[in-house]
Amino acid sequence: MKPESQSARARAVSRRIAAARPLATTAMHERVDLLKSRGESVIDFSIAISHFPAPAVVREAVRAALDEPLLPYTAVGGAPGLRSRLAAKLRAENGIAAEARHVIATNGAKQALYQALYVMTDPGDTVIVMRPHWPAYVATAQLLGLHTVLVDQPDVLDAAFLHALPQAAVLIVNNPHNPTGKVYTAAELECIRAWLRARSTACIVDESYEKLIFEGAHHSLAACPDWEEVGIATIYSASQSYAMMGWRAGFACAPARWVKAMEALQGPITAAVPALTQVAADAAFAIGAVPELLADYRARRDLVVDLFAPVPWIALPAPASGPYLWGDVTALTLDTVAFAETLIEEYGVAIMPGEALGCPGFIRIGYIADDEATLRRGVAAIIALGDRLAAGGPSR
Ligand code: PLP
Repeated sequence: MKPESQSARARAVSRRIAAARPLATTAMHERVDLLKSRGESVIDFSIAISHFPAPAVVREAVRAALDEPLLPYTAVGGAPGLRSRLAAKLRAENGIAAEARHVIATNGAKQALYQALYVMTDPGDTVIVMRPHWPAYVATAQLLGLHTVLVDQPDVLDAAFLHALPQAAVLIVNNPHNPTGKVYTAAELECIRAWLRARSTACIVDESYEKLIFEGAHHSLAACPDWEEVGIATIYSASQSYAMMGWRAGFACAPARWVKAMEALQGPITAAVPALTQVAADAAFAIGAVPELLADYRARRDLVVDLFAPVPWIALPAPASGPYLWGDVTALTLDTVAFAETLIEEYGVAIMPGEALGCPGFIRIGYIADDEATLRRGVAAIIALGDRLAAGGPSR
């Protein structure tokens, strides 16, 4: 190799990563943090950061662990006791016939997603993602060199919808769903199971919002006797269900062959999840739902839905679950990136444009941060910008 090309190579990033970009969601949140660090006042609806602290039992458990003489490396997949207790949670709450060997503790659901998709596919395989979608599904598939097929998520999923899907290695399902709040019914999940069996397609189900349900009941796709043969990996997170975004506490439940492979992948990258995070995960996933958090979110959800109800250019239904509101502003604009830019630049309010979730003409509002007065001010700013555009005012 010539010296020039050697130095060009040393300066370049690899072809594998060159096209990758930071997640739109985390990028917007980081932008807000930067503005705030410069002393600017910004209301952040771009992602869902809870105004609740982590549950008291979690903080107490971690405090107690700090007094232990050792915080050892654990097995890569997590301490045996933690894995057994998470498996017991899955059996009791989710109806999944899981044992410790089916569980791997991860740094949040994102790592569980990456590792599951990594061990379930090879580059070039097809993965089906329903839109609107959490941006990490598409970004992770891109990192792994997969072919992503985006399809519109139906209001009610049935056999006809599934029949029309192409052959794929993996289908990704998000239940309950970010950002629409859709909670899949038992009948819909049965349709998916039948389709997976018929097509020999595997599935990753993201149940990270399982405890944030306002209407309906959560059912797990893997709650069937043959979940291992069908090939269902389910991922969980304490981030949203327990207001523990920064704790990075998540796990996956997958057929034992995949868990072993995920451990082989995780070992050289992070080894085990930090011991304190494992203590926190142990305490959090034992709680079940947190009623006061749910009641607070429900009241905020209803408040924001009421504030938008008289506004003619937006359709914003009350979601059945989750920390987001998903507003259809196609009557106003399809360029919701520009809408979001004007909103943050001129009004100091950050939202996620639908483009980041595969749906231009929609906006996502994370409504669980800060206090009620701030929530009201942020909503008033969105309405003020929309009214200005609806009246024919300048977009910038
Ligand atoms: N899955 C979805 C669909 C999400 O929106 C989020 C966001 O909080 C998560 C999972 C949580 O990911 P993590 O556990 O990496 O914080």
